[in-house]
Amino acid sequence: MQFKFRIATKVFFGEGCLNKNKSEIAGFGKKCMIVTGRSSGKKSGALDDMTKALEELSIDYIIYDKIENNPSLENVADAGKIAREEKVDFIAGIGGGSPLDASKAVAVLAVNDIQPVELFNNAFDNRPLPIIAIPTTAGTGSEVTPYSILTRNDIKNKMSFGNDDIFPAVAFLDARYTESLPYSVTVDTAIDALSHAVEGYTNKRSTIMSDIFAVEAISVFGECLDNLLTNKIDYRIREKLLYMAMLGGMVISHTGTTIVHGLGYPLTYYKGIPHGRANGMLMAEYLKFNYEAIKDKADNILRLLRVGSLDEFGKIMKKLVNTELSLSEDEITLFASTGAKHRSVAQNPRDIAVSDMVSILKNVFKVW
Ligand code: NAP
Ligand code: ZN
Repeated sequence: MQFKFRIATKVFFGEGCLNKNKSEIAGFGKKCMIVTGRSSGKKSGALDDMTKALEELSIDYIIYDKIENNPSLENVADAGKIAREEKVDFIAGIGGGSPLDASKAVAVLAVNDIQPVELFNNAFDNRPLPIIAIPTTAGTGSEVTPYSILTRNDIKNKMSFGNDDIFPAVAFLDARYTESLPYSVTVDTAIDALSHAVEGYTNKRSTIMSDIFAVEAISVFGECLDNLLTNKIDYRIREKLLYMAMLGGMVISHTGTTIVHGLGYPLTYYKGIPHGRANGMLMAEYLKFNYEAIKDKADNILRLLRVGSLDEFGKIMKKLVNTELSLSEDEITLFASTGAKHRSVAQNPRDIAVSDMVSILKNVFKVW
């Protein structure tokens, strides 16, 4: 039995947790940069709560609210330059995975005057600024991961960077902040969280410890499945989704993801499919491809979800993602070769070749 286990984030979970624990912020310095999306901070109520807490603690702040979905290197470079010029002491990321991931890049760029592409070196002269993470989606688990996924227009793909220093120092998880989410984003992001748990559980790097979190996350998703399918998503369900998303983040912090994410990135880059939805389109086929190598775990996933078969799981995912997509032969070739370069290929339960990725894509999508 061998494992390493580390989550370097202090997590506060529950209604009003930011206000109740705002003293946690006091030690990070005199000036904060809030990094958020165009609307998520405001719509969720988290931005108001954070600025109120900072004012009560007499901490200065500036707000950068121009983070794009699937933030690009150019986007985080812009925010990073401002953070450097304004000499901020710490960063507060508020939003879905996009602003949270961006806040990690900004925390590095605020104290390292490097070319943004050098973020992918994963080693920095100066230690990144402390990060406070406040998720407003229940999906990525970025609030407890050491990863930041950025869009690289130079190579036309998404790529992650990170090391243990970009784990957020503190995370405030309050399901009230997810109540303003539209149904489609609620579903897409919940699928992302499930995908993290499933990919982590079936991953070559899974350990006895990461499995505890994965099994719990899959089971909690199973408890929410009918509500997600029927759009009956009350506060109690939102709390469960936020909890399972956090667990999913803790899983991939140790295992990384698999080709579901590797093949999902080009679907997002070229076709604009939201991140979680792209994973949802691919997950059943991923389990089918790997079934013999992970039979016990795959069966356990179905049992935890209370789903009878992989085919039934596929139908449920199809209903949840609710998107028809056809790809050309050229797109399939491009996406498969892009997926094959993803570092998770080595972690896939079975050896996987580009031709297997082509087959997976052809099984999922109509080809024209
Ligand atoms: P997102 O891109 O952060 O947000 C999706 C949409 O939801 C945006 O339009 C956003 O608005 C809106 N939104 C967010 N919270 C809202 C709220 N409470 N009320 C109303 N609207 C809200 O989506 P995400 O799925 O959470 O994050 C996806 C990103 O995370 C991808 O780049 C993905 O690669 C990355 N990711 C990271 C990790 C990791 O470990 N770091 C893991 C998986 C995925 P605004 O535009 O106004 O913000
Ligand atoms: Zn993901």
